[in-house]
Amino acid sequence: MATIQMLGAYGGRDKNKATTSLLVNERVAIDAGNLLNPLGRDARRIDAIFLTHCHMDHLIDLPFLIDAFFSERTRPLDIYGLPHTLEMVRKHVFNNDIWPDFNEINLLNGQDRSIRLKPIHPGETYEEENLKLTPFETNHTVPSIGYVIEKEGRKLMFTSDTYTCPKVWEILNADEAISALIIEVSFPSKMAQLAEVSRHLTPALLDEELAHLKREGVAIYINHFKPDFIPALKQELAAGKNTRAANLLDDGQIIEF
Ligand SMILES: [Zn+2]
Ligand SMILES: [Zn+2]
Repeated sequence: MATIQMLGAYGGRDKNKATTSLLVNERVAIDAGNLLNPLGRDARRIDAIFLTHCHMDHLIDLPFLIDAFFSERTRPLDIYGLPHTLEMVRKHVFNNDIWPDFNEINLLNGQDRSIRLKPIHPGETYEEENLKLTPFETNHTVPSIGYVIEKEGRKLMFTSDTYTCPKVWEILNADEAISALIIEVSFPSKMAQLAEVSRHLTPALLDEELAHLKREGVAIYINHFKPDFIPALKQELAAGKNTRAANLLDDGQIIEF
């Protein structure tokens, strides 16, 4: 069994509710919606972050992460993402207005720049220690990817934010080794129009989507609830034919796969 930890499981912030962040191992994370609060000083071990897209809820801790450990860091913080995601991060976050441009600032202890922006491409596998991460395109309002995570020989798929997405089921049906899926639900089914324009799933849409999964043995986990709608979403998911067996994620939860 391999494990990962969902450090932030929600699609919005509230008291004791934090946004998307997945700790893959002690030095690699996917998305930076919630790193410093749960990890504290251990967050200084993180030196690779793989982003799914440029939305604020997925990168809010990035500027604070590089700032918090700047004086003790001996290796750069590598930020991986689609070219569009990295362009937005540079233009709107590390732009010397909102936050210093750490791309241009050398580490105090080392020769390198303090952050390095590294473009990645769907379908190409990125290896980090004993991990393999393979991004795939999803269906969101901005260019966005999910990842197939291979850790210690086990595989899990994380879609991050997406609307209906045939690619998810195509990959899952073709790869018997994937034993868990983390997918999103954001709004109640009666808000289908908002879900469509913001390219998020509702319980009804996920129920339809899950009908495309043609094999057994995939544990389903759901994240990205908008905090306003938690009771309604839980109720709807529990009533859905294909969603009732799904596990609803909370901040800090460890997932075995
Ligand atoms: Zn999001
Ligand atoms: Zn998003």
